[in-house]
Amino acid sequence: MARQTKQKQILTDALKKLDLFFDAFELHQRVAKSRIGIATVYRFLKQLEEKEEIHAFLCNDQKIYSLNKKNHAHFTCEICGKIEHLNIKKVDFLRVSGKACHFQLDVKGKCNGCFKKEKIG
Ligand SMILES: [Zn+2]
Ligand SMILES: [Zn+2]
Ligand SMILES: [Zn+2]
Repeated sequence: MARQTKQKQILTDALKKLDLFFDAFELHQRVAKSRIGIATVYRFLKQLEEKEEIHAFLCNDQKIYSLNKKNHAHFTCEICGKIEHLNIKKVDFLRVSGKACHFQLDVKGKCNGCFKKEKIG
């Protein structure tokens, strides 16, 4: 097997064992034994992203990926900066004139803790 094909196979296998969301470093760690460089990992992920086989999001200024999750949502407290991840299952509120692939949502507000403090204070 050609080296490139083999590397791709190793990466594909490792990918399937990762969590719902992962980043390039996590994937790289899994394949480090096989001497696959981080640049190859990035190239591999980029190719999958272009083919829409994985979906990319931004989490804490970090690019993260998912194989089967097509949305990533944050609820950010504007007072303390705490970020909570939201799990969105129903996406039928989305209407696009075309074919949507994935989306990212940023909801801002006050977390319960800050909200309570405000009411007491
Ligand atoms: Zn996508
Ligand atoms: Zn996130
Ligand atoms: Zn807060």
